[in-house]
Amino acid sequence: MLNIQENIILASQTSFRIGGPAKFFVEVNNVPELEEALKYAEDNNLTYFILGGGSNLLVSDKGFDGLVIKIRMNEIKVDKGTNIVEAQAGVPLARIVNSSIAESMTGMEWAVGIPGTIGGAIRGNAGAFMGETGDAIESVKFLDTEDGQIKEFSKEECKFSYRDSIFKQKGTMIVVSARIKLAPGNKEESMEKIKAILPKRIALQTPGTTNAGSYFVNPVTEKEELIKEFETEKNVKSKGGKVPAGWLMEKADLKGKTIGGAMVSKDNVAYFLNTGSATAEDVVMLSSFVKQQVRDKFGVQLQEEVEYMGF
Ligand SMILES: Cc1cc2nc3c(=O)[nH]c(=O)nc-3n(C[C@H](O)[C@H](O)[C@H](O)COP(=O)(O)OP(=O)(O)OC[C@H]3O[C@@H](n4cnc5c(N)ncnc54)[C@H](O)[C@@H]3O)c2cc1C
Repeated sequence: MLNIQENIILASQTSFRIGGPAKFFVEVNNVPELEEALKYAEDNNLTYFILGGGSNLLVSDKGFDGLVIKIRMNEIKVDKGTNIVEAQAGVPLARIVNSSIAESMTGMEWAVGIPGTIGGAIRGNAGAFMGETGDAIESVKFLDTEDGQIKEFSKEECKFSYRDSIFKQKGTMIVVSARIKLAPGNKEESMEKIKAILPKRIALQTPGTTNAGSYFVNPVTEKEELIKEFETEKNVKSKGGKVPAGWLMEKADLKGKTIGGAMVSKDNVAYFLNTGSATAEDVVMLSSFVKQQVRDKFGVQLQEEVEYMGF
């Protein structure tokens, strides 16, 4: 039996700590409960929103006038024989990293310190430090809301690319579980990799701040001069014409730019911080300002990586 709650404040469900109430809110622990929640939405003519860990999300100040379905499906099976981790969509990425290392499997170390669930990570093909969620995916089970069927896609069918997948493109497929194929490893070597990544992670995230990770995806530009300038300045090669959004923002003098309670981080320019009292409106205004400045200065259009709910 579902426990449908009313008027649940969403700020506490997100890493940004911003957002008004969900008119209806439900947590689902398995596929039948997910199906029941979707049926409830349909029967009551409600729009719904799938919530994972809320770490890539900006919720509007007025909240969400529908049913928020929080994915709590949390089972994980680690098979040392095949080096496969089978995880339900609500399993935190951190648990996948820890469980695989505990069983001497390698391939997920790059994800250490990234919050959120594997379901959200698959949808946005979360990545860092040369790793991406899609790299290790063998297959993904999802509920296709167009016909209500549970289906399975191979890695190729998931169409993973930079911060993108078929699940993001279509928006009608709810990830319910994934098979992650890792390689036989060694705990000590994995811990060494983690030790090398953690200081970079801490530098990126400025622990103690509230944010939603990088606010924008890194844009691709055809402007040869800009790419060359980036490559010379940072001594790295641009991949396919991509330049970091944070680099453009820093060059546009946006470090520390503040609107209301929302601020472009001074430590990691790619992040927007909620300095304590930010409203979603502050964040949206800051985003518009940053986009306009970067467009005016470099002719590059930034796109949000953070997803919006209730706007
Ligand atoms: C401090 C910090 C650091 C971060 N670092 C990184 C990083 O290095 N690299 C990176 O890529 N990201 C990073 N992020 C962003 C975020 O952690 C990832 O994007 C994460 O994968 C989002 O997962 P989530 O479960 O929190 O998704 P949510 O924020 O809950 O949702 C994001 C989107 O996914 C959808 N979604 C969620 N679950 C499902 C599902 N089961 N099926 C279908 N759709 C679903 C939601 O509807 C929404 O549209 C960071 C965030 C923070 C706060």
